[in-house]
Amino acid sequence: MKDFALHDAPVLDELRALAAERILILDGAMGTMIQTLGLSEEDYSAHGHIHGPGCRHHTDHPQKGNNDLLVLTKPDAIEEIHYQFAMAGADILETNTFSGTTIAQADYGLEGAIHDLSVAGAQVARRAADRAQATDGKRRFVAGAVGPTNRTASISPDVNDPGFRAVSFDELRRAYGQQMEGLIEGGADLILIETIFDTLNAKAAIFAAFEVFQKIGQRLPLMISGTITDASGRTLSGQTPTAFWHSVAHARPFTVGLNCALGADLMRPHLAELAGVADTLICAYPNAGLPNAFGGYDETPEQTAALVGGFARDGLVNVVGGCCGTTPDHIRAIADAVAPYAPRKVPA
Ligand SMILES: [Zn+2]
Repeated sequence: MKDFALHDAPVLDELRALAAERILILDGAMGTMIQTLGLSEEDYSAHGHIHGPGCRHHTDHPQKGNNDLLVLTKPDAIEEIHYQFAMAGADILETNTFSGTTIAQADYGLEGAIHDLSVAGAQVARRAADRAQATDGKRRFVAGAVGPTNRTASISPDVNDPGFRAVSFDELRRAYGQQMEGLIEGGADLILIETIFDTLNAKAAIFAAFEVFQKIGQRLPLMISGTITDASGRTLSGQTPTAFWHSVAHARPFTVGLNCALGADLMRPHLAELAGVADTLICAYPNAGLPNAFGGYDETPEQTAALVGGFARDGLVNVVGGCCGTTPDHIRAIADAVAPYAPRKVPA
C-alpha cells in the first residue's frame, strides 16, 4: 500500500473550508421514509423486470423490504426523498445503499446486481444533489453509504462454536471494494462507512477504500461512524468510543462519529468521549429516540433538534444529521438548532 503517494481529491479542501465556517448538515433516514410510501412487492421488484445500467437481473426471491433495490425499480421516489432532505438543509446526502454488498444482498439473491445497485444509488443521489444546488445555489455532496453488512468478522454467531466466523476479512474487503467502486463511478464525492458495530468489519471497509483509492489515483474523504449498541457504552465488538477511535485513526478520516442505536440523549456521553480524543472532525446522527414497542420512533423534530442543538452548544460536533426515524422536518429543525453555534475545534 503506497497511500502516501496518493493526493487528496479536491473535494476534501472544499469540505474542510465549509466545515471551518459552520456545522455541516447530513441528511436523515432513508429507510423510515421509504416505509411511509407503503410499497408493494411489485413496486420493489418492478414485476420481476429489474433493469440496471449494466444489464437485467433475474431472481425468484421476494424483494419487498430490499430498500436498496429501489434505486433501480423506483428511482424517482428515492430521488425525491434525497431532494426533500437537501431542501431541508442537508449539505451531504447519503446514498440509499446501506445493504448494497454481495454479502447483504445474498439474502435477496441479488449478489449479481451489486455494481448496478451501487452506480445507480450514487446517480440517484447525485441527481437530487445537483437539482437542489440548481434550485438554491448551495453546493451539496454525495456520500456513498457503506453499511456494516449482516455478518460480523470478530464474533461467532454460534454459541456452541466460538471460533466460527460467518465471514472473513478478505470476503468483506472484496465485497466493500466492489460496492465502493460502483459508488464512485456513479458520482459519490466521499465514502461513509456507517453503523459500525464490529470494528473488524470497518477495518476491512477502510482497507477496501484505500485499495479503490489506489486504483482511481486519489483519496476521497472518508467518514467513519460507529454505533453504540447498549447502555454500557460499547460497540457490539466490545469497544469504548476511545478504543474505537484508536482502531480507525490510521485512516485519517475526514470525520469520525456515532450514529443510530440509542438516540441523541443516550448517545451524548459517548459522543463527548469521542470528541475528547479524536483529532479530526466529529459527526453525530442519532435516531429519533429509542424505538417504541412497534419499532417506530417517537421523537418530534423539536425534541431531536433540542438534543442535537445541545451537542453544538457544547462544542462537541462538526457534522450533524439524523438516523432511523428522522424526516426532512427533523433535519430542518436540527439545521436551525445548530446554526447559532460555531463548529467544534479539533484538538491539536
Ligand atoms: Zn439508524
